[in-house]
Amino acid sequence: MAINRWLSNYNGVMKLNMSRHSIILLIAIALLAAILVTVLQPPAEEPRELALNEVISMAKAGEILEIVVRGTALEITTIDQEKQTSTIGEATDLLEVFHQEGIPISGAQAVTIRFEEEVGITWFPVLLNFLPLILFGGLLFFLLRRAAGGPNQAMGFARSKARMFSGDKPTVTFSDVAGVAEGKEELQEVVEFLSNSEKFLALGARIPRGVLLVGPPGTGKTLLSRAVAGEAGVPFFSISGSEFVEMFVGVGAARVRDLFDQAKRHAPCIVFVDEIDAVGRHRGAGLGGGHDEREQTLNQILSEMDGFDTNTNVIVLAATNRPDILDPALLRPGRFDRRVVLDQPDINGRKAILEVHSQGKPLDSAVDLGVIAKQTPGFSGADLSNLINEAAILAARRGKKDISLVELEESIDRVIAGPERKSRLMSRKEKEITAYHEAGHALVARMLPNVDPVHKISIIARGMMAGYTRQLPTEDRYLVTRSQFNDMLATLLGGHTAEEIIFDEMTTGSQNDIERATKIARMMVTEYGMSDKLGPRTFGKREELVFLGKEISEQRDYSDKVAEDIDAEVHDIIDRAYNVAQDILTKNKAKLIQIAERLMAEETLEGKTLDALFDSPLPSPAPA
Ligand code: ADP
Ligand code: MG
Ligand code: ZN
Repeated sequence: MAINRWLSNYNGVMKLNMSRHSIILLIAIALLAAILVTVLQPPAEEPRELALNEVISMAKAGEILEIVVRGTALEITTIDQEKQTSTIGEATDLLEVFHQEGIPISGAQAVTIRFEEEVGITWFPVLLNFLPLILFGGLLFFLLRRAAGGPNQAMGFARSKARMFSGDKPTVTFSDVAGVAEGKEELQEVVEFLSNSEKFLALGARIPRGVLLVGPPGTGKTLLSRAVAGEAGVPFFSISGSEFVEMFVGVGAARVRDLFDQAKRHAPCIVFVDEIDAVGRHRGAGLGGGHDEREQTLNQILSEMDGFDTNTNVIVLAATNRPDILDPALLRPGRFDRRVVLDQPDINGRKAILEVHSQGKPLDSAVDLGVIAKQTPGFSGADLSNLINEAAILAARRGKKDISLVELEESIDRVIAGPERKSRLMSRKEKEITAYHEAGHALVARMLPNVDPVHKISIIARGMMAGYTRQLPTEDRYLVTRSQFNDMLATLLGGHTAEEIIFDEMTTGSQNDIERATKIARMMVTEYGMSDKLGPRTFGKREELVFLGKEISEQRDYSDKVAEDIDAEVHDIIDRAYNVAQDILTKNKAKLIQIAERLMAEETLEGKTLDALFDSPLPSPAPA
């Protein structure tokens, strides 16, 4: 324990701004020096130890020039300038001996005798003897520290792993974040709280303790907080929620304590906890192991945030994409009392994000990013950044000098459905079935009033899909009407129905369509109250089982009778949609055939070509 203490103290001392490299270098130099000293030292001329009577007879013979006495040691210099040593007894007095022997101590022939202090003189050789040992010890210590994982972690299990950014060299600024005006405004205010706290305190305003960034994955929460770090001009500690969670119970809480200690020392500053849902779930909700640890960690965060007094200038920023599962205690005033919601970007936001990410990438002058923004509803910031990158890669692979619309549109498909799989060989028959299937989707969509227009049909395999029909919404949409759902269902079933009408057969190709249709129909009944028979209420309570992070259990809060009604309603909704699809496709069978044949010939139909095809007159039937 004592050693541990010493080590950790030492740990503190060693932080003299030395990087690990310079320490290695120092040790290497010291070692080298030590080796050189031992190797190059001339072999010390072993002075012979004389007996006292030899010294006396030499003195009598007049061979001695000087004797230096250090305690019991005699250092003798002969007249030939040779150095020799000797010792006398503790109680023996050299002067007395010489006097008795009749050796002159003064006069021309005399031996000079000098007395010198003995202390301190013997230290140097001792030190020299121990030098290798000290070096070796140092090396061992150093290696141990390294083995324990870096200078700061030698004994620092409980230290928070937070990285501190000083904001001197902002890598990300607010200008890198696009399309989230409200979020930026809110956070700019936070930055101002920290730089001008007196202004707010003078008016008695309580500075917010915590700001929670909420939004679906990829909407720029982490990015925005890094921009705050870049803009704040105050220290910024960043840690991810999962870093609190360790094998050992109590470590998380200790890390929280350490993090907040550091933060308070650096106030005013910002603490950023990314993915806080990793520790901030409802307490007591966990199954499986490890939730005790999480509870302790969460409790520690709560008590640390309560522990700030009004003029502690520390603001805690946290991000999550699951605000619904956070512990209510985290959300009460005085803790994360501010929320910044980052939504999927709308069309203008998408355009702005595309612009940010296409900076430094040469775009063809004909490219209008507004068009791409229009074609990418539902894309998150991360998707858009990915889209631009994919386009750049495609253009590079094609040996182009700049990125053109072709690459951008191709990338949209890649982001939605995965890369084309041209290598996947389809038999003629399969190609035909796929063509009719996709033509079926497209034609039904074309004929119904409440569906997004078809933008592209393709029978080139992508990802897991054999073919692919992409519709393009005319506007961003936040509400879906019942009519839209119904038409969507008919469109989804169009592929399956077309196969049935043309080939009088069904294939596995419709699996995904049917699954999605069933899910939509069920949600219409059980969640959106869109069933006339069952009325506006929800059925079933979805519980989230924490340890998998997925909805896996649905609690039934209705009777078996109602369950039957739900099934019947879902069945009816699907049935109606199926009839609609069948009706359209039988009436327009000639058109269906026309589209499918064109599709087999060209593999991909889109935009104006597609519109022209829909509107073109049917080919006159070949004369019999
Ligand atoms: P999350 O919300 O999941 O933390 P990130 O902040 O990690 O999302 O975003 C991932 C990437 O997506 C960012 O690094 C950035 O390239 C891009 N991105 C997301 N949102 C935006 C945005 N609003 N403006 C610019 N780029 C964005
Ligand atoms: Mg993130
Ligand atoms: Zn389909």
